[in-house]
Amino acid sequence: MIILVDQITESPKKVRFAESMEELNRVTELARDYRFPDSVDVDLIFYRSGSEIVFEGRFGGRLQGNCGRCLKSYFFALEKRFSFVLTPEPFSGRSKELNRDELGLSFYSGQEINLFPFIQEQVLLALPTRPLCEEGCRGLCAGCGADLNREPCRCAALPGDPRMALFRNLKINA
Ligand SMILES: [Zn+2]
Ligand SMILES: [Zn+2]
Repeated sequence: MIILVDQITESPKKVRFAESMEELNRVTELARDYRFPDSVDVDLIFYRSGSEIVFEGRFGGRLQGNCGRCLKSYFFALEKRFSFVLTPEPFSGRSKELNRDELGLSFYSGQEINLFPFIQEQVLLALPTRPLCEEGCRGLCAGCGADLNREPCRCAALPGDPRMALFRNLKINA
């Protein structure tokens, strides 16, 4: 979504649009854990406050996650309210970098504002730190590979139980 700067006034305007998220599926670090929808739906209000432009809204979308414990894929709704403020980009090169880092400011310049990177950032901020099919997922047993959500661990029944081997070696070495 691109908004023209000279159409932003002090009286709030409301827009609804779909922002593309396809690009996130090409980010290697994310692709292992999540599959993003083609787009998320965004409701947004924006207005001018002095030289700053204020954005407030929410987005919603349905993602696929790959559980970090049992490796099963599952779907979940991702939704978040957000707000951010853009200030005009200062001209001096060096202080600009300092401001950006130290104050966490976001800038706009030129005649239009492309909202895509800001919405994308909000989606990334809303992601759970680790994908889990459910909070209490018990995962896979590292020894026998059993899905502990559905079946008991078979390690004790296996003749070459790797944990038993560890104990045997300990005895020999001692
Ligand atoms: Zn799981
Ligand atoms: Zn096991």
